[in-house]
This record gives sequence, structure tokens and C-alpha cells, in this order.
Amino acid sequence: MITHSARQGSGWSILGLSLSATRGRQHHSRQPPSRLASTSQATAQAQGTDAPRTLSILQPDDWHLHLRDGAGLHTTAPMSALHFHRAIIMPNLTPPVTTTDQALAYRQRIQAALPSGSTFQPLMTLYLTDSTTAAEVQRAHDAGITAFKLYPAGATTNSDSGVTELRKCWEALDAMAKCRMPLLIHGEVTDPAIDFFDREKVFIETRLKPLLRQLPDLKVVLEHITTKDAADFVMGAPANVAATVTPQHMLLNRNALFLGGLRPHSFCLPILKREEHRRAVLASATSGSPKFFLGTDSAPHPRNAKEASCGCAGIFSAPIALALYAEAFDSVGALDKLEGFASRHGPAFYGLPPNTLQLHLVSEECQL
Ligand SMILES: [Zn+2]
Repeated sequence: MITHSARQGSGWSILGLSLSATRGRQHHSRQPPSRLASTSQATAQAQGTDAPRTLSILQPDDWHLHLRDGAGLHTTAPMSALHFHRAIIMPNLTPPVTTTDQALAYRQRIQAALPSGSTFQPLMTLYLTDSTTAAEVQRAHDAGITAFKLYPAGATTNSDSGVTELRKCWEALDAMAKCRMPLLIHGEVTDPAIDFFDREKVFIETRLKPLLRQLPDLKVVLEHITTKDAADFVMGAPANVAATVTPQHMLLNRNALFLGGLRPHSFCLPILKREEHRRAVLASATSGSPKFFLGTDSAPHPRNAKEASCGCAGIFSAPIALALYAEAFDSVGALDKLEGFASRHGPAFYGLPPNTLQLHLVSEECQL
């Protein structure tokens, strides 16, 4: 059983997908055509007080996703494929995906778990370790692996094999900069002397800034940013530095962890922060800046691993993520910026074309 956080109230739902008007009239619908027909012309348009508000955007991609492995793939992969066309697949399996051959085999297992006819594209990543070589970077690049993922050792789920010191994988980082392969970063220090809520801020100051001083051309995505410090840093950095933002870090502050008792389903890493940080992250994501794009960090765990005396980190949001993002953008009157964040900025950063299908959403009373 996979769990996610329950939410209720007035929210956004996904109506379905259809081919873009520029590609003709053919429907590629996962919903009855009668429901789609009512929204086919709508674009962030209020239709009167009684009519539901609707929104159409280019089909999004998920630039940070955990699908896990084994039998669970048959649940997780189809759920992401329902709304997203492509996704960056995280490599923190057990054992981690550290070689090109492992990544290609993992991609095959994901594709085998998709419904027949699915066009979902898993974009694969390799797990950077202290011993990753420049040759492996080149091999990965030549085989179409999209990026490397940096987990500081011990930072989050299955990160024990992560990097202990950046200088130990210097050759690999240098090779990435040379072949323009992005480095995706879980940006937290793991020093137990550092306050848990300051881990991201300290990482930026003591790890990320020095790294970018030494390799200024390295393409970097600071994943799942949670602080004003991270938002300001990315906004002020050159174009080769970008960030992904999760729905939970746009909608929730750290109070969500303690409302009426300990809330394990709101526990993720990096951990939720103070309200001032949530506001800053939300403002950056909804600003229209191409440096911020969608990455759910959807991370399924078995229910008994979440609801435990030492519960694990991660929020499984894939089936409802787009509705949550729409809710976040709507909360600051920025629905017109959702398509850029969800469907355009990510492909532009990764040098890929935007998708062509249209995704339709409607605002209605719902329980998720
Ligand atoms: Zn993650």
C-alpha cells in the first residue's frame, strides 16, 4: 500500500489530455470526450460565478521523480504516465544506479511496467559516488543518460553510497562540465552539528558556491528547494543554474508536521520550512523565471514505513501533483505562469522540445 497526504476543499482536478490544436483535432483522451469538450477552448479563464474555472496547458514533464523498482513500478510508472510525458528518474535504488548499464536496464523495467501504447519517456540519471570516473560520465553521455544525481552521503532515502566529499569526484564533475551534462543536487549538508532546518542554507554556502566557483560552466539543478536562501541564490545565479520545486514546498510550511500531532505523511527531505521560506519559494516558482520548473519529488513508501517510530522521508504526490501545483499558482493569482513552470522551462533547460499535447484542468470542490 502506497500512501499520500489527504487534502480536501476547493481544488483543481485534471480533466484529461488531448492533442494540441496545432496538431489537428484527433483526441488522445483519458476522460470521456464529453467532459473534455467543455474545456477545449479554455485558457486560464473564469467562466462566471457558477461555471467551474478551467485551464489548459501544454502537457507537463516531471523533472524529479522516484519510481522505485520491482513490483511497485507497475503502480508508480502508470500513475506518472497519466499526466506527464517525460520524467527525470532518480537513481537511489538499492543498490543505487551507478553505471550506464544499470540505468539502461532500469529504463527497460520502467517501460515494461507502462500500459501498452504509453508514450511516457523515462529520462535516466546516474548516482554519483566518490569513485565515479570521467570515463563513466562519457559513457553515460554517449548512451543518452540525461544527468547525474549528487546525494551527500546520508542526506536522504538510500543515500548511504553518496558523495562524502566533492573533491573525491572532481574528475567526474569536470567531465560533466565539459560535456554539458547536468548535475542534479540534493542540496543539504549532513553534519549532525548543523541544525536540521539549516542544512540547505549551509550547503549552498559551503558546498555549492565553491563548486560553481571552480566549475562555473557546470549545469546544475538545485533540486526541491525549500528556503528563501535557495530561491534567492538560484534567481541570482547564471543561466546554467536552475531549481525544481515540489508542490508540498509551495503549499505547506513546517507547521504541517505537527498539526494535532506528528504527521508522518508531511515528512520529506529537505524538510518543510518556516512560512517566510514557503512564501519565497512560491514567489520564485510563480515569478515566470525560466530558472524554476516542476519537479514533484514524488517518493512512494509503504504505509508501514511512513507510519513508524522512525518513519522515512518522502511524499507520494504523483497522481495529484498537477492539481496541487495549480492550487499553489492560483493562491497567488499566477495561473498564467503555470504553463511556463510545468511545461516550458524544464525542456528549455535540458535542451528538449516542449510537448505538444494539451492538459486540461478544472477547479471544483473535491477531496483528494
Ligand atoms: Zn528526491
